[in-house]
Amino acid sequence: MKTQPFPIEQIRQDFPILRQSVHGRPLVYLDSAATSQKPRAVIDTLVRYYEEENANIHRGIHTLSELATADYEAARRKIAAFIHAPDPRNVIFVKGTTEAINLVATSYGRAFVGDGDEILISAMEHHSNIVPWQLLCEQVGAKLRVIPITDDGELVIEEYQRLLNPRTKMVALVHVSNVLGTVNPVKQMIEMAHAEGIPVLLDGAQAVPHVRVDVQDLDCDFYAFSGHKLFGPTGTGILFGKEKWLDSMPPYQGGGDMISTVTFEKTTYNALPYKFEAGTPNIAGNIGLGAAIDYVEGVGLEAAGAYEHDLLVCATEALQAIPGLRIIGNAKEKTGVISFVLDGIHAHDVGTILDTHGVAIRAGHHCAMPLMARYGLAATARASFAFYNTRDEIAVLVKAIDEAKEVFS
Ligand code: PMP
Repeated sequence: MKTQPFPIEQIRQDFPILRQSVHGRPLVYLDSAATSQKPRAVIDTLVRYYEEENANIHRGIHTLSELATADYEAARRKIAAFIHAPDPRNVIFVKGTTEAINLVATSYGRAFVGDGDEILISAMEHHSNIVPWQLLCEQVGAKLRVIPITDDGELVIEEYQRLLNPRTKMVALVHVSNVLGTVNPVKQMIEMAHAEGIPVLLDGAQAVPHVRVDVQDLDCDFYAFSGHKLFGPTGTGILFGKEKWLDSMPPYQGGGDMISTVTFEKTTYNALPYKFEAGTPNIAGNIGLGAAIDYVEGVGLEAAGAYEHDLLVCATEALQAIPGLRIIGNAKEKTGVISFVLDGIHAHDVGTILDTHGVAIRAGHHCAMPLMARYGLAATARASFAFYNTRDEIAVLVKAIDEAKEVFS
C-alpha cells in the first residue's frame, strides 16, 4: 500500500506564528524542544473558553460552571487515552514537568524515602529531574546516585544494573534527552528496576511530542510531561501515577478541591486525582491541552514521527558536513534534537547570528549543567524540530551557520 505524503503545507497553515518574519526573513523556528508553537485549534479553544464558558470548576451549580467542568474533565479523559492510562484518575493536572517531578519527590519522598536511601538518576537529566531529588536527599539524608553515559550519549546499562540496590527507593529517568536527543531504553530499564522492587519515574517532556507513549506497556510508576511542548498552552502539564502509589502518598499541596472534609482538628482528602489538585487550576490551559491532543492525533503521531525522523537524518548529514562543527549526542536512537558546537565560536554568538537570519535556535546549558560538564562544555547550540519544520528550513539553518563562521573567521 502506498503511504500518503506528509501534508506539510497544510500543517504549516495551522500554525499562525509560522507566517511571521524575523529581522525581515521568514521565521525558521527550530526551538520546539524549548516550547512548541500552537496550532489555530488550540488558540481558538482558549478564546472560545474565555468568551463563552469561563467559570470555576467542580464548585458551581450554575450552567457555565457545569460546562467548564465537563470540558475540563473531557480533557483529562483525552489525555488519559493519549498515554493509555488505565483511568482518568491516574492523570493529575500540574503546571508542567517540573511541578510533576517536584510533586513526586516531595510527596513520595515524605512517605517512602529516609536516611541512607538512594535515588538513582542519570547523567543526562534536566535540572527539573535533578534538583527536586537533591532537595529531598538534603531533607531526609538520602543519597543521589548517577548512571553514567558514553561519549555518544547513551546510558551505560551495565552500570545502571550495578547501581540498583536494596537502598534504591526511586529511579528517575529522562525518556528523551533535551540536549542529546537520545531515546533511552526505558522499557528495559523499568523491567530491571521492577525486578528489584524499585519504582520508576519517567521525565517525558521531550518524548510525548515525538513518540507514542503507553504508560501501561512501559509499566512506569510515574510519567511526567509538559503541555507546552506538546503544542498546548504554557502552564499545563501532567503527572501520571499508578494508583497504588498515588493512594499511599500524602497530598503535595493543601487548599481547595483537594479536601473531602475540613475541621480545625482534622482534614480528610478528596479522591484521586483531586487529592493532588489543590486550588483553582489552569482551566483554560488544560482544556487547550485537550485540543492540542486532538490536533496531534489528527496529524497522526506515527506519521509525524516518521516525518521528523527524516528531518533529523537530513539535518544531521547537512550539519556533519560543515567543517569545524561537532554534534554532541550521537546515540543510535534519537528524536529531532541536534546539539552542536562550532570551533572558535561561542554557542551564544551562533544563536545571535542565526537570529539575524530569522533562525530561532537555543544556545546555552539547556538546564543540564552536569551533562555539559560531562562533555567539558559550557554551552552548545541546539536546533530542535517538530512536524511543522521542513527540509528547506534546514537548508536555511546550514547557510546561516556558514555565514556565522565567516563572521568569526
Ligand atoms: N525535562 C526535560 C527533559 C525538559 O526538556 C524540560 C524542559 N526544557 C523539562 C524537564 C522541564 O519542563 P517545564 O519547564 O515545562 O516544567
